[in-house]
Amino acid sequence: MTDALDRSMRAWAEALAGMRTTKPTYKASLIVAILELLESGAGQLVEPTQAGAPATLSLPTDDRLASAFDLVLAEHGALEGPGRVEQPLTHMAVRTGKMPDQLWRRRRNALTLEPPFAPVLLSPEGRAWLRITLAEELERRASPVGLRLAHALRHGWDSDRERLEEASDWLHSHSDAPLTTASDRVRESLPQLETFGLAARTREDRFRPLEGDLKTGRLIWQALRAGDTSMKLLTTSAQRRQGQEVFRARVLSNFDYWCAVCPIGIPEILEAAHLLPVHAHPEIGLDFRNGISLCRNHHRAMDEGLLAIDGERPRIGHALAQDDSARGLCEPLSANARQPFVPLHAHALDWRLNQLRG
Ligand SMILES: [Zn+2]
Repeated sequence: MTDALDRSMRAWAEALAGMRTTKPTYKASLIVAILELLESGAGQLVEPTQAGAPATLSLPTDDRLASAFDLVLAEHGALEGPGRVEQPLTHMAVRTGKMPDQLWRRRRNALTLEPPFAPVLLSPEGRAWLRITLAEELERRASPVGLRLAHALRHGWDSDRERLEEASDWLHSHSDAPLTTASDRVRESLPQLETFGLAARTREDRFRPLEGDLKTGRLIWQALRAGDTSMKLLTTSAQRRQGQEVFRARVLSNFDYWCAVCPIGIPEILEAAHLLPVHAHPEIGLDFRNGISLCRNHHRAMDEGLLAIDGERPRIGHALAQDDSARGLCEPLSANARQPFVPLHAHALDWRLNQLRG
């Protein structure tokens, strides 16, 4: 083992121990997300070109996991109050005294990992070690969410999916049947169903499906099921309100809580404006890359076709440019344009630009 990897493991161990003193299962869950992204090839960590420089993480275009972890944040109440939410993967401050107080930092359109933490994520050996170390950390907390994440770290999200789904369906249609009448496959799967919060054992040795109390586990479970996406979940009516809160938080934090075109950074008057209208594009509606952070005036101006973004620059329509009374609305625009940390969907920006009047 190289010295660098060894030092990095010690840095991670110290950081994880630092996280243990607070109660954030979700912070550990974000590291799980990073591991999943790296292992699946959806995310890439680029090695620093010089010693001491941070490594850079490129974000995946499929943000299925990121959305799943938004749900974790929402469940933990981390989305309440302006300014409290960072882009999920940067929300990992650790306070251990000696260590940098953040694993990840945002740099323009990229996430960078502080140097001591990079070697572990860059090597397969390091990632395997982190997987087990993280599972042990989560098991120590013994929260339902933590246990499910630990199970996924040890066995993979997909390991028993088909069998678990079959068993889960069976349970929901035979919720009163004694265990002895269940098929072997169902019986074998029951401990895992318990781990995922989908079932509980009764004293009469029956299993019953669980509802409600372990919502987070089911959301993670559903979000990661084959062929399903958390986006679909978010647009179901039961989740719509939460989905909109997640959307607003992600859009505003993507612009660091500033209006994208003027120098207003007051969360109370900032809005998450949709580029493509949700009703016409339900598939993209709650994707935060379809959203732009705007103050109320500029939101209204965009909705009325008086304002759009052209490349990286705000552009105003002819009508507004000719109107003296609009000067206060228009003059600060170009000098104060803000770029999002994660780029928005180009076709959504183009669509808005085509709506610009005159
Ligand atoms: Zn504004």
